Amino acid sequence: MAKVCIICEKEAAQGLVVEDDAVIIAIRKVKNMLGVAKNNQLMVCDLCAESYKRKRESYERNIVIHTIIAALVLLAFILLPLFTSGFSIWSLVMGVVLAGVIMGFSLFSHVPKASQKKNEEPPAKESAGKPAEKPSKERKPKKKRKSKGG
Ligand SMILES: [Zn+2]
Repeated sequence: MAKVCIICEKEAAQGLVVEDDAVIIAIRKVKNMLGVAKNNQLMVCDLCAESYKRKRESYERNIVIHTIIAALVLLAFILLPLFTSGFSIWSLVMGVVLAGVIMGFSLFSHVPKASQKKNEEPPAKESAGKPAEKPSKERKPKKKRKSKGG
């Protein structure tokens, strides 16, 4: 499985590991259906870490703004008919559809979450037969000083 940076779209040996969120899983499913899925491991390479951070932050801000607007639109479509002609199911449906479209716009700038962990595999297997050496000398029971060159 190739590791591909989501920012520069080049293969990256190491970097931040992108977590599969709902959007990525949905995109994968669609791509699988279309038969164009590459199933790459998504990464953010070290070179792109800075610009990724900026993009992620602006995306998170985007989501908040879109959610607020969507909620206001939905509210307006529910409340306005109440003041005029009474509750309308069509107005509610329109509000939900519009809110969905507004939320959908935020996906154009979708930037998935990437975790800090490096994608390096640690050397897992150690030969068990080897007796483990003590890493360092612990406290010496006695300190002997040799006088040198007295
Ligand atoms: Zn990159």
